[in-house]
Amino acid sequence: MTKKTVTAQYPEVLPALPPRTRGVIGLFEENCTVCMLCARECPDWCIYIDSHKETVPAAAPGGRERSRNVLDRFAIDFSLCMYCGICIEVCPFDALFWSPEFEYAETDIRELTHERDKLRDWMWTVPEPPALDPAAEEPKELAAARKTADKLAAEAAKAAEEAAPPEQQAAAAEQQPETEGPEGPDASTEGPQGPDTPTEGGAR
Ligand code: SF4
Ligand code: SF4
Repeated sequence: MTKKTVTAQYPEVLPALPPRTRGVIGLFEENCTVCMLCARECPDWCIYIDSHKETVPAAAPGGRERSRNVLDRFAIDFSLCMYCGICIEVCPFDALFWSPEFEYAETDIRELTHERDKLRDWMWTVPEPPALDPAAEEPKELAAARKTADKLAAEAAKAAEEAAPPEQQAAAAEQQPETEGPEGPDASTEGPQGPDTPTEGGAR
């Protein structure tokens, strides 16, 4: 109320927009699997997708051929779009992003349908996501992934140990008590599982 009104001198002076401004939608084509979710969920039906199926040969002999969707057309009609952001929210593969660019007015309404090349060009104007909060709680997915990786590493180490030649296993068994302390190496090397047991005990 007490501040003087300031007229923005656009286009001479560009407005300072927040980085997450909903200006235009960029398509990161490499991430798109043609799942059609965005087109189905768009309340304005202004996303147009065409695709065809391609057969991918088996990766290994005896394997099965697979089929995959190949994108032929991806277009968004910005004359119909209401900038709700649903398509971006529902995309499960992070293929759609907001760009703050807004200078794409046209005199011909048909030009407001942006095809995949144009949508891809918008992608390079998408700002980087903000840095993560260092004090934020770690996502549960990361903890679960780390637990799985630790388990796999332990299993791999155990398998490698079991697959090692007997001499290496004996050497490892001899080294172990030395690191364990003053109890004496003989106590453990002569144990019931030790490699020397058959020869010492006269099993035959
Ligand atoms: S922002 Fe909303 S209206 Fe626009 S294309 Fe996406 S889902 Fe459709
Ligand atoms: S939802 Fe995402 S992955 Fe699926 S078709 Fe749309 S942009 Fe592509």
